[in-house]
Amino acid sequence: MSTDVLVVGGGNAALVSALSAADAGARVRLLERAPAHFRGGNSRHTRNIRCAHDTGDEFTTGPYPGAELRRDLGGVGDGPSDERLAELTVRESRSVPAWMTAHGAHWQPALSGTLNLARTNRFFLGGGKALLNSYYRTAERAGVTVEYDTQVTRLEWTGETCTAAHTADGRRIPAASVVCASGGFEANLAWLGRYWGEAAQGFHVRGPSYNDGRVLRELLDAGAQRAGEERGFHAVAVDARGPRYDGGIATRIDAIPFGIVVDRDGRRFHDEGEDIWPKRYASWGRNIALRPGQIAYALWDAKVQGSFLPPMYGPYTAGSVEELAETLGLDGRAVAETVGAFNTAVDRGGPPSRTFTMSRPDGRRTAGLDPPKSNWAQRLDTPPYYAVPMRPGVTFTYLGVAVTDRARVRRVDGGVFGNVFAAGEIMSGNILSTGYLAGFGMTIGTVWGRIAGREAARHALG
Ligand SMILES: Cc1cc2nc3c(=O)[nH]c(=O)nc-3n(C[C@H](O)[C@H](O)[C@H](O)COP(=O)(O)OP(=O)(O)OC[C@H]3O[C@@H](n4cnc5c(N)ncnc54)[C@H](O)[C@@H]3O)c2cc1C
Repeated sequence: MSTDVLVVGGGNAALVSALSAADAGARVRLLERAPAHFRGGNSRHTRNIRCAHDTGDEFTTGPYPGAELRRDLGGVGDGPSDERLAELTVRESRSVPAWMTAHGAHWQPALSGTLNLARTNRFFLGGGKALLNSYYRTAERAGVTVEYDTQVTRLEWTGETCTAAHTADGRRIPAASVVCASGGFEANLAWLGRYWGEAAQGFHVRGPSYNDGRVLRELLDAGAQRAGEERGFHAVAVDARGPRYDGGIATRIDAIPFGIVVDRDGRRFHDEGEDIWPKRYASWGRNIALRPGQIAYALWDAKVQGSFLPPMYGPYTAGSVEELAETLGLDGRAVAETVGAFNTAVDRGGPPSRTFTMSRPDGRRTAGLDPPKSNWAQRLDTPPYYAVPMRPGVTFTYLGVAVTDRARVRRVDGGVFGNVFAAGEIMSGNILSTGYLAGFGMTIGTVWGRIAGREAARHALG
C-alpha cells in the first residue's frame, strides 16, 4: 500500500496529525519509535490542556476568554517567537475540546484546587495515557497503519522534497507528505551536553528515552530554519532516587517552599520563597542544574510535614538536623550552621504579622540573609526533620523548526520544504520561545497536529 501521509512519532501531536489526515481521506502510516507498551511519548505523562472558552462547564469552573489566554501566553518567558502563530494557536484552541471529544477523549469533572488550573485547563479522565490509548483506538478504526519499534534515522531528499524516511531496521518508506511529530531532544544528554558540559550527565529526563532529536537534527541539517531558544529547556526538581528516564509526574518534589534547600556543601543557594506555582516550580530544575554535582536537598520539619504532595519514595527523617544531614551523606555541622543562620534570619524578619499561608505569597520573610527567603519563612525547629535529594528533571527542550501558518517547515533560505510539515514539541519554539504555560504543550500539539495532518493530506491528495 502506498502512503499519502507518513507521520513520524507516536505522541499527541503525531496521533492528532494522523487522525486529521485520515479525516481528510488520506492513507496514513504512523511510525512510533517506542514499543507498543511505551507508546505515547511525553504526552502519556500529561494531565491537562489549556484552551480558551467563553463559559465554564462541567469540566472547567469558569470562562477563559481568548484575550486572557493571549495575555497569559505573552507573559511567559520572552513571549511568543511569532505573534501571528501564537494568535492563531489561541484562536484555534477554542475548537480543540470538541474535536478531542469527537476523537475519543474523556474528561475529568472540574476539581477544586487542582493546581489552581480548574478554570483555565481541562483534565483528561485517566490522564494522558488514557487519552493516547483512545486516540490509538480511533486511529486504528480510521484505517491508520501504526508501526511500533520503528525509529526513523534518516530523511531522504530530492531537492526540497522529502521522498522517504529510512528506519533503524533498514527499511525505506516512501510517502507523498511527511509530518514530523517526534518531540524535542530532551532525552539526548550528549546534545544537552553541548550547552551544559558534564553537568548534563547529572540530569534526569522526565519523559521516555526515545526523544533524542534525531528527526529534528535531520531537518536542521537539510536546511530547516530554527525556532525557539537553542540552549533552553523546561526543568523541575525531581527526586534524585527516581529513574533516570520516564519518572513522569510522580517523582516531582513539591517540598521546596515549605522549608529550605541546600547544595552538597550544605549551603543554601536560592530563594525558596520566590514565587508561587507554576513559576517557582519551573525554576528549580535550572537552579539545581547550576549547582556542583547537579544535586540539592530539600529540608523541612514536623510543622509542615503532610502539607504537600509526599515524595513517592518517602523522605529521609531524623531527630536532629545534624543527624539528618549525615544520613544524606552531607557535612552535619555545615547543614546545622545553615539551619541556625536561617532561623536567626527568620527571627530577625520580625514577629510574623501574618499566618503561614501556602496558597499565596504570605510576605513572611527573612532579614539579613543571602539569599533571602522572601515568603513562607518560618523556623526549622520542630523534630522530626525531613529531607529528599533532588536533581534537575528535564521536561522538554525549546529548540525546534520554524513553520508557516499551514505547518509547513520553513527553510533558512526563506522558502519552505515542498511536502514536510511539523507539529508538537518539534515546532513549539514558534509559539513559546522560552518559558512555559501549564497545559499549553498539549494545546500546541493538538492545534498544530490538526493543521499539519489536514495540510499534509491536502498536499498528498492534490
Ligand atoms: C512529566 C510530564 C508532564 C507533562 N504534563 C503536561 C500537561 O499536563 N499538559 C501539557 O500540556 N503538557 C504537559 N507536558 C508537556 C507535554 O508532554 C508535551 O508538550 C507534549 O506531550 C508534546 O507532544 P509531542 O507529540 O510533540 O511529543 P511526545 O508526546 O513526546 O511524542 C514524541 C514521539 O515521537 C517518538 N519519536 C521520537 N523520535 C523518533 C524517531 N526517530 N522515529 C520515530 N518516532 C520517534 C517518541 O517515541 C514519541 O512517541 C508534560 C511533560 C512531561 C514530561
